[in-house]
Amino acid sequence: MNYITTEERHRAGQLIAAELPTRWFNILSCLPEPVAPPLDPEDGRPSRIETMRAIRLAALTRQDSTIEPWIDIPQPVLERYSSIGRPTPLYRARALETHLGTRAHIYLKREDLLPSGSFKLNSAIAQAYYAAEEGVANLVTETGAGQWGLSVAYAARMFGIGSTVYWVRLSEGQKKYRSAFARLLGADIIPSPSCRTEVGRTILERDPQNHGSLGTAIGEAIAHAQSHGDCRYISGSNLAHVLLHQSVIGLETRQQLNEIGVRPNILVACVGGGSNLGGFMGPFLPDKLLAPDSLRLIGAESAGSPRLTQGQWRYDHADPAGLTPLSKSYTLGRDYPLPASHVGGLRQHSGSPIIGVLRKAGLLEARAYEENEIFRIGKLCLELEGFLPAPESCHALKAAIEVAIEAKQTDCPQAIVACISGSGLLDLSGYIDVLGL
Ligand SMILES: *Cc1c(COP(=O)(O)O)cnc(C)c1O
Repeated sequence: MNYITTEERHRAGQLIAAELPTRWFNILSCLPEPVAPPLDPEDGRPSRIETMRAIRLAALTRQDSTIEPWIDIPQPVLERYSSIGRPTPLYRARALETHLGTRAHIYLKREDLLPSGSFKLNSAIAQAYYAAEEGVANLVTETGAGQWGLSVAYAARMFGIGSTVYWVRLSEGQKKYRSAFARLLGADIIPSPSCRTEVGRTILERDPQNHGSLGTAIGEAIAHAQSHGDCRYISGSNLAHVLLHQSVIGLETRQQLNEIGVRPNILVACVGGGSNLGGFMGPFLPDKLLAPDSLRLIGAESAGSPRLTQGQWRYDHADPAGLTPLSKSYTLGRDYPLPASHVGGLRQHSGSPIIGVLRKAGLLEARAYEENEIFRIGKLCLELEGFLPAPESCHALKAAIEVAIEAKQTDCPQAIVACISGSGLLDLSGYIDVLGL
């Protein structure tokens, strides 16, 4: 036979993913302490909790509050996961290991291979499915760098529903090909601030050239949902239901490692709102709790928004305009001046309360990296391994490289697994600017 066998591919490190999990894993079921409940600020304005509940999908609100460890993945979602290429490969970065001169083994979970170019599709598909189930005709959301907006456009199209995306104006201009891709899928893409909502009009009257911000885009998307009865508002990160859907990443990884008889020593992921980290590491958390010293968990954040390394543990709004309820996590404060950057996915003043609990309990280490060092890592990955990671994912790769170098000292080879959250192909403008191409 002129085919290579599974064993040969395993030895070469190009692991064939085993089966697709049929249940999501709920990280809320095994946290060392429960997440603090969301609160309404006492400012006399309408309840944020009630406002948000009215515009969200009922199934997702239920998922946010359950502590059941396993939730069945609906059959149509499984079929879609399969059609987009799940399980994604787990891949051994041998050229990188050789380049570093380390005995550590570096494995990469390749979420960059999904057709929208990022892991966000895993939750977008689930959310679009529940919308279709609840008879909702349209979904609305906001997006910064655009990976979430594109994933929503893609998933909504798959389930035959409409999508509207308020896209931070500056980034919509920088990432023309990503927004064009979303338009091609039939999404209504609206650079924010826009004339469609009161929030947007007020800003444009004062400053017609306004570049927009995530806070403004959230405000517009919420206002849009409130004024369109057939429309629900969805989010791509931070919330428990998003981490639940993303657990498909960690469940597959766990099974793939089992398949080749590898017990991971270190897991790394980049962290913005926390959904790729939570989904990737969640299914390993029971192992970590049983034997804390045998598994290290590391979150890699942007030095421009260093919440886990420098933030405070307290209640804050997750959005800069204070439209969402207060949640307890690590925060820089919602007035923190986040510098303009090409790593939009990590550019947040606070993040998931679940990630906050992991950090607070001493289960999650954190490291922060500067923008110019991470783009060089992306170039190195392309040269050695033949693919270009998203700038956000380069943070995870940078942390994996650091620990692989530190591991030169250790006697037994360490198994390091990094989550590659997305592809850099639609982020070439960042590579051009930072590396001066
Ligand atoms: C959105 C995004 C991130 C950060 O989001 P998390 O919720 O922290 O995972 C990281 N990488 C890519 C490619 C993204 O699109």
